[in-house]
Amino acid sequence: MPTNRTFTMIKPDAIVDGFTGPIIEQIEAAGFRIVAMKKVHLSMEEAGKFYEVHQERPFYGELCEHMSSNPIIPMVLEKENAIEEFRILIGATDPAKAAEGTIRKQFARSIGSNAIHGSDSDANAAIEGAFFFTPTELK
Ligand code: GDP
Repeated sequence: MPTNRTFTMIKPDAIVDGFTGPIIEQIEAAGFRIVAMKKVHLSMEEAGKFYEVHQERPFYGELCEHMSSNPIIPMVLEKENAIEEFRILIGATDPAKAAEGTIRKQFARSIGSNAIHGSDSDANAAIEGAFFFTPTELK
């Protein structure tokens, strides 16, 4: 995956709250092209595998439960400097600390149900994108 790509998921809370449309609109308005997108309902095991790096953290169980509670919408996005630009667009992990106008500030419920994921590095974006999409889907 080239370095102008990032990986995101709209999380269950935002989908249940009816924010899928507004979130996608803001992503596109910010200049990101949607390379691949789908709706999937992860099992607890699949969510656990995706968030394996966090397995020692105290919130791991809660995180996996939330991510498997309802469907999510994973996407691979393309834009110059995608990783950094997208992290700015979504805002801080805790919506209470997120800047005005960011996606998490507008649409997240809490730190545990924070509306959207954004990869933190090119390497993780490639791994996370490959978790959901085939190489052909990412062409
Ligand atoms: P991110 O890169 O901003 O998503 O944040 P992290 O990589 O640190 O954490 C991954 C995800 O774990 C976050 O998006 C939250 O959904 C969840 N998380 C992080 N910290 C906490 C916490 O203190 N409590 C709970 N319940 N969830 C958390």
